[in-house]
Amino acid sequence: MRIYISADMEGVSGVVHSEQTAPGAREYDRACSLMLGEVNAAIAGAYEGGATMVLVNDSHWNMRNLNLLELDPRAELISGSTKPLSMMQDIDTGFDGACFVGYHARAGTAAASIDHTYTGQIFRVEVNGRELGELGLNSLLAGSFAVPPIMATGDQQLVAEARELLGESLVTVQVKTAIGRNAARCLSVAEARRRIQAGARAAVERLGKQADSAATGAGITKHPGRHLHEDRSGRASGAGAG
Ligand SMILES: [Zn+2]
Repeated sequence: MRIYISADMEGVSGVVHSEQTAPGAREYDRACSLMLGEVNAAIAGAYEGGATMVLVNDSHWNMRNLNLLELDPRAELISGSTKPLSMMQDIDTGFDGACFVGYHARAGTAAASIDHTYTGQIFRVEVNGRELGELGLNSLLAGSFAVPPIMATGDQQLVAEARELLGESLVTVQVKTAIGRNAARCLSVAEARRRIQAGARAAVERLGKQADSAATGAGITKHPGRHLHEDRSGRASGAGAG
C-alpha cells in the first residue's frame, strides 16, 4: 500500500505559538524537531500497518521544515515551495490513503492552536456552502484522486473538525488540548509519538483489511494494482469532505 503524508506544524504537541512556527524565530528549530518526530512516528506506524511506500510532503510555511538527514529513510520527502498542489503536491491515484499530521483547525475556530486557513489573510472558505479549513480542502483534493483520508492528528478542535467532515471511521489522534489560540496542554513528546505511531498503524491496517474483504466479496482473486484502485474509488466518494 502506498501512503501519502501531508505534514503541518501547528498541530504538533509542544507547538503553541507563531514564534515557534516561523522560520528564523527563536524556538523554530525546536518546533521543527517536534514536527519531525511526529512525522517519523506516522511513517513507522504506516510501515507496521502494511505500507510499502510512504511519501511525505512538508506542508508548513516555506515547506522546508523537515530535515531529510533525520527523516525515516524508508520515506521520500517533498521539500520546499511553491508547488502547484501545495500541501498535497504529488498526490495521485496511485496512493491508497492520505494522512494529515500536525494539522490545525480552520480559521475562526475558538480555543484552537494557531487556527488559520492557508494564510493569516483568509478568514473563511466555503465549498458548496460548507465551511472548510486546510483539512477539508486537502481531503477534497485527495478525494478527487480517489485517495481516502485515513488519519488526522492535532489538537481537540482539529479532531472535532475531522470527525465532523470525514466521519468516525477516520483515525484521529489528539496530541494536545488547546486552551486558547496560543496555549495548550500538551502530551509528552514520547506519548504523542506513541499515539501517532499506533494510529497510523491502525489506519493502514484497516485499509489493508478493506481491500482484502472487497476482493473476497467480489469473488475474485486479489489483484493489488487494479482492484485496490476500484475499491478505493467507491469508498472515497463516501468519505469525502463535501
Ligand atoms: Zn496549516
